[in-house]
Amino acid sequence: MALGKMLPSVMKQFLQSAVNRMHLPSTSMFGRCSSTAAPHLEENISKSFVTGPLTMLSEEEEMMKETVARFAMEKIQPLVSEMDQNSEMDPSVVRGMFEQGLMGIEVDADYGGTNSSFFVSCLVVEELAKIDPAVSVMCDVQNTLIVTLFRKYGTPQQRAEYLPKLAENMVGSFCLSEVGSGSDAFALDTKAEKQGDFYVINGSKMWITNAEHAGVFLVFANVAPEKGYKGITTFVVPKETDGLSLGKKEDKLGIRASSTCPVHFDNVKVPASAVLGQVGHGYKYAIECLNEGRIGIGAQMVGLAQGCLNCTVPYLHERKQFGQKIWDFQAVNHQAAHMLTQIEAARLLVYNAARRKEAGLPFLREAAMSKYFAGEVATLTTSKCIELMGGVGYSKQYPVEKFYRDCKIGTIYEGTANIQLSTIAKNMKEFEP
Ligand SMILES: Cc1cc2nc3c(=O)[nH]c(=O)nc-3n(C[C@H](O)[C@H](O)[C@H](O)COP(=O)(O)OP(=O)(O)OC[C@H]3O[C@@H](n4cnc5c(N)ncnc54)[C@H](O)[C@@H]3O)c2cc1C
Repeated sequence: MALGKMLPSVMKQFLQSAVNRMHLPSTSMFGRCSSTAAPHLEENISKSFVTGPLTMLSEEEEMMKETVARFAMEKIQPLVSEMDQNSEMDPSVVRGMFEQGLMGIEVDADYGGTNSSFFVSCLVVEELAKIDPAVSVMCDVQNTLIVTLFRKYGTPQQRAEYLPKLAENMVGSFCLSEVGSGSDAFALDTKAEKQGDFYVINGSKMWITNAEHAGVFLVFANVAPEKGYKGITTFVVPKETDGLSLGKKEDKLGIRASSTCPVHFDNVKVPASAVLGQVGHGYKYAIECLNEGRIGIGAQMVGLAQGCLNCTVPYLHERKQFGQKIWDFQAVNHQAAHMLTQIEAARLLVYNAARRKEAGLPFLREAAMSKYFAGEVATLTTSKCIELMGGVGYSKQYPVEKFYRDCKIGTIYEGTANIQLSTIAKNMKEFEP
């Protein structure tokens, strides 16, 4: 069935299943469990979460996965190499993601969104990354950071203004990092000075994903530097605001089609109504959404590793040396088997973290583990795939070298590998049960 024809029915089923979930909160194995349902949490979990394998997908999840896989293969795959070479995302890809409902996955149907779940966002990111990790990060940042912040902390007016746009055609950027504040994110130097009913923002952000395409920027700036991180506040800044400008796009090793730019704020004047949530709570919002968001990066790395292996194994079956397929050398097929096992282990960590988050269970440690491990697995897989393919693996004839370049970012953004290990260590008991 053509994608265009299939989509409305897929969406309809999404909406229907969302309605069903609302009426049957405790029986859906994979239904969302909001934090407001906390009193019933234990009951829900004991009824529904203990029996199902992590990789068992609901009908809705399976449908979304298949739809995205087809979209990625038909509409993105033919453009991957050119987009990488030119460091440009093709406009048809961005448009296609909006048309498929992939940019407002958790946005309510009332706002024109897909009305689906965090777990589905992770599945979508994984599927896109199998074909192009650069495209998948655009979708990841939009859903797990930007939409999440608006949904959780936006005023009714902000939600009504931005959620429909984010679901339909507006890309968002998350502006936290600066030249002097990366891992130590709350050492940020950007300031917002209150002047009557306005704030005036001054400073520069670095490494901002989606900056070139963004219509709105969520900016972390300090309104009271004397209070340290407790002055950090989140502002909604539309692209066209006077004084906001983009610096030169970074020329990167990998995920080259994803735009990464500095963003400058030179006396950017925004009304007090542009504060997202509460003044001085920006650090909490950043921590909370990055804790969740890194599960999405774990999903990106799982998809990337699987996509790379998928491009490698057919070659191993085709290539002959010493009169036989190289796949038939045990030294080769054992390494492929090892990689597949590692990828599956990483996937289980990611799915577990995502499902815990949806169930309202603690997930901080699991999220850090999933991102850390998936990043390691992606690094090892892509490197080994190049080795197994020999010379052609090292050339641009096959996509494997691109996956090798793309994977490195998984150990850097949304918390480096060291920062994940620190989180895991902090949450480690002296004796684990
Ligand atoms: C392509 C790309 C896209 C990005 N997108 C965004 C975005 O959209 N929005 C945004 O706000 N930011 C974004 N970032 C920034 C990213 O989050 C930071 O690069 C990351 O947090 C690391 O910060 P840093 O680069 O300053 O490295 P540093 O913090 O300087 O770290 C350098 C090294 O020191 C280690 N280190 C630092 N502190 C510790 C410690 N306490 N313990 C042990 N080791 C430590 C790190 O692990 C790392 O190995 C992006 C970055 C890149 C490269």
